[in-house]
Amino acid sequence: MLSGARFMPLKEAVAIMDRLRTKGVGHITFIGGEPTIHPDFHRIARAARLLGYTVQVTTDGTGLADASRAAGVLADIDELCLSVHWHNEALAREVTRFDSAFSDTEAAFENIKRFGRLRLFMCHSVICSLNLAAVPDICEYVFSKARPGVLMLSQLIPWGRGRSSYDSLTVSMTDIVRVFPPVKRLLDVNGARLLISGIPLCVLGGWGRFSNDLGFSPRVVLERGKVGAEEEVLSFKKSLVPPLNRIKTRECASCALFEVCAGVFPDYLKKYGVSELQPVSARSAGRLLRETTYVRENSCPG
Ligand code: SF4
Repeated sequence: MLSGARFMPLKEAVAIMDRLRTKGVGHITFIGGEPTIHPDFHRIARAARLLGYTVQVTTDGTGLADASRAAGVLADIDELCLSVHWHNEALAREVTRFDSAFSDTEAAFENIKRFGRLRLFMCHSVICSLNLAAVPDICEYVFSKARPGVLMLSQLIPWGRGRSSYDSLTVSMTDIVRVFPPVKRLLDVNGARLLISGIPLCVLGGWGRFSNDLGFSPRVVLERGKVGAEEEVLSFKKSLVPPLNRIKTRECASCALFEVCAGVFPDYLKKYGVSELQPVSARSAGRLLRETTYVRENSCPG
């Protein structure tokens, strides 16, 4: 949007969804940027539902802050992932530089409670230098507002503004792993499941069974935007393993989890090097995969 791109017209979005539905695609996730700021978002979500998709939306809650808008959109959403990277107004402002960020989150929680008929509700926090120390408080805040079945904690992705400020915003994976014990205790008390994204399995150690890499299902990613000098390019990318440009290093060659691990962000390696990476033995890998039952439940048989 900042580069002057325009929203995908409703007609085009419906035509694409129709075409993919006839090819057997049954689940659609709207991500972004922020999908709910599309002026026709409620119509696109309605069309997806009428075409027979299971509809998931990943949102920071902007488009759910207004009650009447939220009521319309939530009627067509089956699965919702709400991003919550803060637990108070000051932190919300520091992270987003928007005055309304915290009040939008509060209103979104309220409207989800009023209008949501969700089969899956999850919350998602990206961990960075601004909120690392507050992650357990963010978790408490989330459960004071709602009962999500899943809380996903992610390493910062070097994309967009996350990339231009990556050096100052990113924190070491080892430091992120240290916040998991208090968070897991809160999740257990609230009956919710932990998911971890963006951190390779060797760094996660015993936390590996909560890795999102292991629950990844094959997908087609459609993205509209600028490629070089060309505006408005629509790209289709098939992903059989977690995408987001993570890479393997020389250390990975002898790792028994090479095939299932998505690796590390190259920008992360530039800042922190490879010292946290430890190839996993066949024995440890076997134990991890046996313990992680949802790998087999969610993965594609093909
Ligand atoms: S493949 Fe590489 S990054 Fe992944 S778990 Fe193994 S050593 Fe770690």
